[in-house]
Amino acid sequence: MINVKGLKKSYGKNEVLTGIDMDIAQGEVVVIIGPSGSGKSTFLRCLNLLEQPTAGEIHFENELITARKHDIDNTRKKMGMVFQHFNLFPHKTVLQNLTIAPIKVKKMNTNAANKIAEDLLHTVGLADKSKAYPSQLSGGQKQRIAIARALAMQPHVMLFDEPTSALDPEMVGEVLEVMQKLAHEGMTMVIVTHEMNFAREVGDRIIFMDAGQIVEQGTPEKVFGAPSHPRTQDFLSKVL
Ligand code: ADP
Ligand code: MG
Repeated sequence: MINVKGLKKSYGKNEVLTGIDMDIAQGEVVVIIGPSGSGKSTFLRCLNLLEQPTAGEIHFENELITARKHDIDNTRKKMGMVFQHFNLFPHKTVLQNLTIAPIKVKKMNTNAANKIAEDLLHTVGLADKSKAYPSQLSGGQKQRIAIARALAMQPHVMLFDEPTSALDPEMVGEVLEVMQKLAHEGMTMVIVTHEMNFAREVGDRIIFMDAGQIVEQGTPEKVFGAPSHPRTQDFLSKVL
């Protein structure tokens, strides 16, 4: 589904991604781990071209999306993204948060958008919050709404950048549960997280990044159980 070749990104003289190659299959759950500043967020942001790569190619569903003439808006509709901070629209209700993009961007009619939104609210366990405003929700609830909002566009892949890092500990579980459900339903997912137990349970593949490179990757058993690279071993010894 996604094919990344020789991806580089620099900010000025600072090369933050130094050449990433990655293939992501339909239905695969890829979890990216690594120290702060290793380029994980930059990589995710390059995948949906929130950041313009300095070099390299990204194919998404057999289209070269890094091509100059490529219609990126059309591709972004197919890539849902969830951030650490939920970025909900504060002056819109939960239901409106979920329907605004499908109506405005996808030109969906209101009834169809409402129907999808209500189903998704049910999926994330917040069917009773459709008329609430974001300020009336807990952090965990906000993040579940943010996930539902991304899903409302019916994306082909979901990108998560530390979706639980800003949450109080008691709210982490409810968000991970929603993500686990999505994974089991076959959603293609690329997840940056520090939740190692979740990574081990839900990831099909774990990728360890350091200093803008993929240092090591493999099954959770392999990467967590028998990491082969000293940098991976060092990182895991600090977080596990
Ligand atoms: P991670 O998500 O792994 O913590 P990031 O991708 O956020 O890492 O950052 C990698 C490096 O790129 C860091 O050194 C960071 O300071 C730098 N960086 C990220 N975004 C920008 C930006 N917009 N401008 C300049 N430098 C940036
Ligand atoms: Mg980051």
